[in-house]
Amino acid sequence: MIAPAYEMYLHGGETGSALNELSFESARLWESFAPAVRQVSGMPVGYSNAPTLAVAQSSEQRAGLRALQAALREIGHTAYWIDRERAISRLGLSARVDAVLELTSDHQVDNRRLLTALRTGLRNLGGAVVSHHIGSLEDASRLGGSAPFDAIIWARGCHERGVTRHVKGQALALHPVEGMPAEVVRFGSGYIVPKPDRIIIGATSEATYSHPGVDAAAIEALFRSACNIVPGLRTARRLESWSGLRPGSVDAAPIIGQHSDREFVATAHYRNGILLAPATAQRIADMVEGKPSSPRAESFSPDRPAIATV
Ligand SMILES: Cc1cc2nc3c(=O)[nH]c(=O)nc-3n(C[C@H](O)[C@H](O)[C@H](O)COP(=O)(O)OP(=O)(O)OC[C@H]3O[C@@H](n4cnc5c(N)ncnc54)[C@H](O)[C@@H]3O)c2cc1C
Repeated sequence: MIAPAYEMYLHGGETGSALNELSFESARLWESFAPAVRQVSGMPVGYSNAPTLAVAQSSEQRAGLRALQAALREIGHTAYWIDRERAISRLGLSARVDAVLELTSDHQVDNRRLLTALRTGLRNLGGAVVSHHIGSLEDASRLGGSAPFDAIIWARGCHERGVTRHVKGQALALHPVEGMPAEVVRFGSGYIVPKPDRIIIGATSEATYSHPGVDAAAIEALFRSACNIVPGLRTARRLESWSGLRPGSVDAAPIIGQHSDREFVATAHYRNGILLAPATAQRIADMVEGKPSSPRAESFSPDRPAIATV
């Protein structure tokens, strides 16, 4: 998901924080990034700018969404209430739903299609994709052989310096069913994301865990919570389940910056590595080309005090 507004709601971020500004900037960049990847790769990336539906199941949650709507208005984004009866009858939502807010700034892309398209696009532009464990600058130089690299961008997720939190996430996918929602639906920390070939249901957020793999009980709980919102999902067959680790920093902001003349870092994107990809890429590209620094670059620097002292 590309969800700057709902992420702000979930984490109570201030509208003017550097991370929120980067998130909305990146969501806007997606509008040109997705067609650009499609063009160089000749492959679809499953980008959709259809709005996301944020569901409240109680008056307290409705009040939270109202506050989100006001915060969004402050920064020039729109969100509209959808008629509850229509949401139930036309969108297939459960009668438990108390209110539905349509977020026009939150979209989605198919991460699997995107990665395939990025690899293909890179090759089409003359690049190469190699799989190799890189532990040091020397490893990278050896790999380059007779063609030494101009710059290296360290992006090893949880294995980068400054990444102090590894938050586990589990999710599952269902086969598509008739009556499934056409839009992304968010409820509390849960979500239902329709794709042409599957429906994604997520996700857990586990700061502590006994093992990094999938737990049947957690997957079952995710499935049930999604069925409570969209009852039509009950008949959907399970396709797969998986888990991953979200790499985070001590202050929850990504680490995007320069280590030395030729070394750059892009990591700690935590819950929003997909959302923040175009803005991160733009900032790193500008640094590599020696352009003036981007707004609020110091908030993401690997040298900021919160990170440098870890
Ligand atoms: C269940 C779940 C749902 C999510 N949903 C969303 C979402 O909807 N939207 C969103 O924006 N974000 C989402 N995220 C977060 C997003 O997946 C992460 O922010 C993102 O994957 C971080 O990207 P990364 O490339 O920094 O790290 P990773 O994705 O961890 O990739 C790091 C890569 O580096 C490789 N690597 C590690 N060490 C080495 C080495 N020494 N040499 C060579 N390669 C190495 C690894 O093999 C890996 O391929 C989700 C995460 C989870 C777990």
